[in-house]
Amino acid sequence: MINHEIKIAFQEYSSVDELGVTDQALCAEAVNAMVHSHSPYSKFKVGAALRLKSGKIIHGSNQENVAYPSGLCAERVALFYWGANHPDDSIETMAVTAYTDEFELQKPVTSCGSCLQVLAECEKMQNEQVKVILFVGKGPVWVANGIESFLPFLFFEDRLS
Ligand SMILES: [Zn+2]
Repeated sequence: MINHEIKIAFQEYSSVDELGVTDQALCAEAVNAMVHSHSPYSKFKVGAALRLKSGKIIHGSNQENVAYPSGLCAERVALFYWGANHPDDSIETMAVTAYTDEFELQKPVTSCGSCLQVLAECEKMQNEQVKVILFVGKGPVWVANGIESFLPFLFFEDRLS
């Protein structure tokens, strides 16, 4: 028997103000993206913003449905839009935030496993890592360079592609 241990790496900042101006601007775009969140069931708004190599910004927000499984997370709304419209313009950074009136969020909301898996495939498609910035109104900001930090056991099988 062999015991394995995996360490993940990410940076923590005390607030968005500590980020560079370009990343601060992208965080503001993620906040703007929440305007179009359709979340009448969870009352939990999520906004995602992608900055592409050209400078173009893509917004995504969670889109719920009365048939619950039909909805989709903000990250995948943005990532699938990118794949359908701008696959040749690499994603440099993704910022994700969340807000609810129900309680105060005190730490970043991390993306679900399905969104991480989709982001992993986007990295594979563009052959470049994506910087991920997770933040909420208050509390720390978490930044990871590349999705493997958040999903070390991402699924990939070369023989399928
Ligand atoms: Zn998700």
